[in-house]
Amino acid sequence: MMTIAEVEDFAFRILRDNGLADHQAGPIARAMAVTEAAGSHSHGLYRLIGYVGSIRSGRVNVLARPRCERIASSFIRVDGDNGFAPAAHSIGLTALIEAAETNGIAALALTNCYHFSALWHDLDPIVAAGLACWAFTIGQCIVAPHGGTHRLMGTNPIAFGWPRKGQRPFVFDFATSVVARGEIELMSRAGKMLPQGWGIDASGEPTRDPQAALAGALLPFGGYKGSALAMMVELLAGPLIGEPTSRQAAALDNGDGGPPLGGELLIAMSPALFNSGLANDWQQQAENFFADARTQPGIRLPSDRRHAARQRSEEEGISVPNALLDELRKLSPRDDS
Ligand code: NDP
Repeated sequence: MMTIAEVEDFAFRILRDNGLADHQAGPIARAMAVTEAAGSHSHGLYRLIGYVGSIRSGRVNVLARPRCERIASSFIRVDGDNGFAPAAHSIGLTALIEAAETNGIAALALTNCYHFSALWHDLDPIVAAGLACWAFTIGQCIVAPHGGTHRLMGTNPIAFGWPRKGQRPFVFDFATSVVARGEIELMSRAGKMLPQGWGIDASGEPTRDPQAALAGALLPFGGYKGSALAMMVELLAGPLIGEPTSRQAAALDNGDGGPPLGGELLIAMSPALFNSGLANDWQQQAENFFADARTQPGIRLPSDRRHAARQRSEEEGISVPNALLDELRKLSPRDDS
C-alpha cells in the first residue's frame, strides 16, 4: 500500500529525474496521485509512461513557463509554452474563478500544451469555489464518426461539475468514445477482449481484439448522439480557441506515446450570481433534485464511486500493482535495478 503523498512523490521523482522542471512536474504528480486515489487507474501512474516518452523525445518543452492573459473581462487564455497542461491549468485557475464570480460566466482556454489527464481533476477546484463548470478537451485521434470506417476524432472527454451543499460535488466526466483509450490499453496489457461494439479494425470491420481496435478505431458512445458530441468537442477545444483538431494534432505527433498537442476549454458559471435578485434557494432546489434521484433503487450519482474510492484511499492507502511499479521505476535514469 502507498499513501497518496507517496504516489505523488514517486511520480514527481520520475518526471524530475527525466529532466522535467519542478513547476511542470509538481502539478502532474499531484493530478496523478489524486487520480490514482480515486481509482481512475487509466489516468493515474500508468500515464507516466507517456509523459516520459514525450519528455525524452523532445516534443514537450520541459522548462515551459505558462503565461496567463485576460483577453476580455470573462475570457482568460493561458499559453502553455509547449509544456504539459497541468501547469497551464494551475496558472489560470484563480483568474477564471474571479472572472466567473464577477461576471456570472467566464471561460478559460488552455492553449499550446499537452493534455493527458482526467478532466474531473481540472474541474474540482473550480467547483469547490462554488461554481458550476464545463470542461472539454480533444483526446488522441482514434475515434470513427458514427457510420464511418476510419478515425477522425479524439476520445474527446466532456466533464461537468455542480457544487453541493455540505457534500462532495456532483461531477461527471467521460470520453465521448465508448471508453477512454487508456482503458483499451490496460485491457490489452491484461490480455482481455473488448465487449462487442467498442472498436473496428483498420479495414473498418467490428473487432473485439484491443490491439486491432488500437490500430483501427474506437466507436463513439450512443451512436450518432455521442458522435455529434465528439464533433462539438473538436470545435470547442479546437477552432474556437485557436487549437488543432485531434486529426491535426495527430499529424504533429511523433509516436512517442505521450499526449496530443491540444487545448482545453473550461466554462465556469456562478449559480449565486445567476440567481441574484431571485427568491430562489438554488442549492436547496438542486439538493431536492438529487434526493429525488436517490429514491430510485439501483441508481447512483456520477462521482459516487470516485468519492468513495478517494475516501478509502485516504484511510487505507492505494494499492498499486507491483508489476506496474517495477516498470515505472525503470523509467528513472537513476534506477539501478
Ligand atoms: P467512464 O465510461 O468510466 O464514465 C465515467 C463517468 O461516468 C464518471 O463520471 C462516472 O462516475 C460515471 N459513471 C460510471 N458508471 C456510472 C453509473 N452506473 N451511474 C452513474 N454514473 C456512472 O469513463 P471514460 O472511460 O469514458 O473516461 C475515463 C476518463 O478518461 C475521464 O476522466 C476522462 O476525462 C479521461 N479522458 C481523458 C482524455 C485526455 O486526453 N485528457 C481523453 C479521454 C478520456 P464515477 O467517477 O463515480 O465512477
